[in-house]
Amino acid sequence: MNTQVATDTTTARINGDRLWASLMELAKIGATPKGGVCRLTLTDLDKQGRDLVTGWAREAGMTVTIDKIGNGFMRRAGRNNSLPPIMTGSHIDTQPTGGKFDGNYGVLAGIEVVRTLNDLGIETEAPIEVAFWTNEEGSRFVPVMMGSGVFAKAFTLEHAYAALDTEGKSVKGELERIGYIGPQEPGDHPIGAYFETHIEQGPVLEDADVTIGVVQGVLGIRWFDCTVTGMEAHAGPTPMALRKDALQISTRIMQEVVACAMRHQPHGRGTVGMVQVFPNSRNVIPGRVKFSIDLRNATDALVDQMADEVKAYAMKAAKDSGLDVKIEMVSSYPAQVFHSDCVDAVGRAAKKLGYSNMPAVSGAGHDAVYMARLAPSGMIFIPCKDGISHNEIEDAKPEHITAGCNVLLHAMLERAGVV
Ligand SMILES: [Zn+2]
Repeated sequence: MNTQVATDTTTARINGDRLWASLMELAKIGATPKGGVCRLTLTDLDKQGRDLVTGWAREAGMTVTIDKIGNGFMRRAGRNNSLPPIMTGSHIDTQPTGGKFDGNYGVLAGIEVVRTLNDLGIETEAPIEVAFWTNEEGSRFVPVMMGSGVFAKAFTLEHAYAALDTEGKSVKGELERIGYIGPQEPGDHPIGAYFETHIEQGPVLEDADVTIGVVQGVLGIRWFDCTVTGMEAHAGPTPMALRKDALQISTRIMQEVVACAMRHQPHGRGTVGMVQVFPNSRNVIPGRVKFSIDLRNATDALVDQMADEVKAYAMKAAKDSGLDVKIEMVSSYPAQVFHSDCVDAVGRAAKKLGYSNMPAVSGAGHDAVYMARLAPSGMIFIPCKDGISHNEIEDAKPEHITAGCNVLLHAMLERAGVV
């Protein structure tokens, strides 16, 4: 019979002031005059950020290992270290005009969870690991979510190493230069579960006045280029009935992109963000129009259905008008539905802690998307001011920062098991 008395963790809470102070401390590295942060991946400033965070981890008694793509793993031992770790993490690189919270919050929330476990003397069955992933932002080197992508074997280490910035510097060279090319093989260790805490980067939670978004998954994306070809002609002498106006047909298709997204609520998104009109002259009937179509939805089946509907509409418009319409897919990113065990753990933690919460979806990519290929994964969203990120004015409220981290603590404790 197991005589071990389970530690009661019901009242465990993180130290919100300490977490906030750490966020503000890290934000000093690369601070911009407008209150944001510019800490591009694999720069000297990124090295300083990495040194600060790994220093904090060591102070909290964690071991730090670095893999070959520069991902950092900060580990707090469990009672049974043969179990795969329960992991959390995010990234500490920023956009050139980035904010203090995007990514940084997810990493420092993990450190705060460990500091709290230390304060309260709570031992977990499985180890706890906090990761920072290299080059999530993708602004200096492509592809985005590079470190987690290599870890999840979405692409090879060699592919990532070869990426060059605009000055011709390589990922491998820059990793070596800042001393963050580690010996560990990316993806070498299994993960029990992965949680990522993040600002929402959208306006839904703030609009609903809700503290916690229980993230169900990340939207699937399909990108198309649409080209409509008609005939240029003089705007004066050509009667309306005898025109082949490529822009008129294009605007109908553009309206259908939006209408289609409206038919596929709650998560359908349809955007035309780029339009080129030829010859782009005020007294010439447009002979050719090229525009982008961005469709998103919560599952691949739904986003593919949206694409079919838009294509069918475009083909009918082509037939009715006699103009040539071509739609070509240029990129496709699969939807990621998070594992119900992790989604439910987040929902239970929010409820137990008395925070208002609602299901949420992520319209942006995150490291958790790649982790979800390896282990049950989930995300915790908190509101950010006006839904704005990738901007120096990005802001979040201390009480939301605290709440998200408390949810992380309890979700991780549930998965890690408390001795
Ligand atoms: Zn991020």
